Amino acid sequence: MTFEAALRSAVGPEHVLIDPDLRASYERDWTGRFSGESRAVVRPATAGEVARVLEACTGARVPVVVQGGNTGLVGGGVPPAGPADNPPVLLVTTRLADLGEVSLAARQVTVGAGTTLAALAAHARAAGLDFGVDLAARESATAGGMVATNAGGIRVLRHGSMREQVAGVEAVLADGRIVSRLDGLAKDSTGYDIGHLLAGSEGTLAVLTRLRLRLVAAEPERAVAFVAVAGTSDAVDLLASILPKLPGLCAAELCFARGVELVARHLGIRPPLEGAGDAYVLVEVAGEVDPVDDLLAALASCPQVLDATVAASAADRARLWALREGHTEAISTLGVPVKLDVSVPVTRLAELAGRLPDAVAAAEPAADLLIFGHLAEANLHVNVLGAADTEGVTSAVLSLVASLGGSISSEHGVGRAKARWLGLSRSRAEIDVMRSVKAAFDPLGLLNPGVLLPAE
Ligand SMILES: Cc1cc2nc3c(=O)[nH]c(=O)nc-3n(C[C@H](O)[C@H](O)[C@H](O)COP(=O)(O)OP(=O)(O)OC[C@H]3O[C@@H](n4cnc5c(N)ncnc54)[C@H](O)[C@@H]3O)c2cc1C
Repeated sequence: MTFEAALRSAVGPEHVLIDPDLRASYERDWTGRFSGESRAVVRPATAGEVARVLEACTGARVPVVVQGGNTGLVGGGVPPAGPADNPPVLLVTTRLADLGEVSLAARQVTVGAGTTLAALAAHARAAGLDFGVDLAARESATAGGMVATNAGGIRVLRHGSMREQVAGVEAVLADGRIVSRLDGLAKDSTGYDIGHLLAGSEGTLAVLTRLRLRLVAAEPERAVAFVAVAGTSDAVDLLASILPKLPGLCAAELCFARGVELVARHLGIRPPLEGAGDAYVLVEVAGEVDPVDDLLAALASCPQVLDATVAASAADRARLWALREGHTEAISTLGVPVKLDVSVPVTRLAELAGRLPDAVAAAEPAADLLIFGHLAEANLHVNVLGAADTEGVTSAVLSLVASLGGSISSEHGVGRAKARWLGLSRSRAEIDVMRSVKAAFDPLGLLNPGVLLPAE
């Protein structure tokens, strides 16, 4: 049997896409910055089918790139650029989308790795619970991709990142063996935790096929405020002041006047609080009873507040959130940016925001810098437009972050975009251990080569 015939027999001929026109949309990432050619796009629907695809790839020594919703921002889910002697199979997980029954007693659910975040959250809400992680790419991002990148998003402050939601996984190893631990035991100290190891592994160790995920209590009442402050330092002080007063605080997001104007123009609306300050903090509080009064009282006691607007309805809340969540899309209308997702200790956040313009200008004087991020995690999304020397800009920003004791990858992963700079955030010994783990899971190095770990 030829290799292509083995793939067709594994998943059915209609789910093996060979025609370049049919492959094209899978081979380019969301940003348009990363693309490459695959030998075939393969769309399995069960762990057994994934296993047969991987067995065929291992037998033929063909590399495999794993893709979920293709919303990743670091190029990890698409083939590498340039001509390849041995192009990869692009394994797309979106047909692995089964939704298991919600366990109210355990507050857990088992879902296919290709389930979108929107479908997962709707499923949890239909059972009277909620899913703790949320992010703007919710309509396409998959549970598997989110675990693989250890995605964060807008509620990390309240419920943690994706790794904290994982109660068990089913995954297929490169040689086709299936490892499965989906019992979701509340307590289990039996050796290494493979599920948590796979969180953040970016498709380099195994293909996640099903996930046992923790759910959280539904908090139906919400209050959202958009607050103008003088700058990043005041935003950090504002957060420190409201945190102890608002136990239901579930989001604290940071944006700046230029970004908010850009998003408002993109959405065709007037920016709120125009001219009131250089920075804005979007604050959301959730609870069983309407938390608006608590939010107003907390803000009233903060000298950092220059002006504020509090949403009066669900539509108002959505409008304020759109100003923050619209940043990625609005920026991409200006061109293809160099996107860097970094975090520092919260005490260094103002310094990072203050020093970024000079660091970028030194590498690329004509480039345009736009930043926004998740305030509570001191996580900034750095977007640089018009940079010809993308490596130079990346080096300048990531070196600054490392010098402040920060991480070069806060929540998007390392992918292909930042593999070269892994040594800025991890020591030689840590990288050696990572390589040993990779060799144990994937001895032939077939899964997502070039992602996360730099070439030796
Ligand atoms: C508008 C927008 C807003 C965003 N906001 C946020 C945010 O707030 N926080 C945040 O963390 N991210 C954010 N992202 C980035 C992105 O949504 C996340 O990285 C998400 O986790 C990617 O999921 P995906 O299914 O699209 O994965 P993909 O992009 O398909 O893949 C991402 C990585 O995971 C691997 N992978 C995918 N599925 C599997 C699997 N089943 N098994 C093993 N490996 C797999 C891929 O090989 C790749 O390395 C945003 C993206 C966009 C476009």
